[in-house]
Amino acid sequence: MPYNSRFLFLFGLLFLLYGGAAQAAAADPAAGYAPPATAPPASPAAKEETMSQLMVGDIAVTIISDGYRDLETKLFLAKSPDQEAAVKEIYPQGRTRNSLNVFLIKTGRELTLVDTGGGALLGPGVGNLPKVLAAVGVAPADITRVVITHVHRDHIGGLALNGVAAFPNATILLSKAEHDFWLNPDNEAQASERARATFATTREMLGLYAGKVRTVTLDEEILPGVALIAADGHTPGHRALLVRSKGQNLLIWGDLLHGLALQLARPDIAIGFDSDPAAAVESRKTLLTRAAKENWLVTGVHVPGPEAYRIRAQGNGFELRQ
Ligand SMILES: [Zn+2]
Repeated sequence: MPYNSRFLFLFGLLFLLYGGAAQAAAADPAAGYAPPATAPPASPAAKEETMSQLMVGDIAVTIISDGYRDLETKLFLAKSPDQEAAVKEIYPQGRTRNSLNVFLIKTGRELTLVDTGGGALLGPGVGNLPKVLAAVGVAPADITRVVITHVHRDHIGGLALNGVAAFPNATILLSKAEHDFWLNPDNEAQASERARATFATTREMLGLYAGKVRTVTLDEEILPGVALIAADGHTPGHRALLVRSKGQNLLIWGDLLHGLALQLARPDIAIGFDSDPAAAVESRKTLLTRAAKENWLVTGVHVPGPEAYRIRAQGNGFELRQ
């Protein structure tokens, strides 16, 4: 693909080293995730890429794999026999290996991260971001902005490294809706025990960047050509990023989809992590429709890869196109 000049880093050893160890049970919206039961085989999974790079006009985007976890597919909210059949057909094993990606955007001299992976919060299968950044010659101190699509721990865990701010020179940007919801003690008091962990982690992680957390309004351009756009439903203030330059567009959709194969074909199927499943379905349909119509490149935190795709409408849903 001409837009996608890719640099393959073969980190098979990482999987042998990091796969397969036990992990304490999760206690927040990521609770359905578990580490892989066994390390992926040495081949061909050992040839997994840990990053790929592409240009969106003048803007360089690196898609970085922070790691992988198994996802139990019963977490998809199949509400009808038809939806249940769709989940079973695509995931007959009841589990799927789920990617955890992070994005690095280079605009001029600015280096901006989008989400941070799980850091030390999710066990040994993830948390590879620092190693991959080092491999591409980026020091943590070089990162000037970190955009958080939403505050689930597989997105904010990497804000900490050994208990301190992993990116000492970075400003943290997130939507005002997300920030205000998760830092509101009244919401926390009313939350389920499971959701309370997210409140605590958010406080802890953002607390490492005291005075350097900035809220962003809808459609605000945070960098030339880069804006946060509405993707409500997964969390109260979940946002996607639209990267535009010289007529090219890349949608970084955060957690708009958790299972690419399923939710492209069936955008009507939500997942248990969604705080408002109906709103999440609407956001998915709206953004996928726009991406297909306007021929955007698309990528997300949980798409297989690290990779970007193009999609087209197909029946009541969508499919990948070459
Ligand atoms: Zn996620």
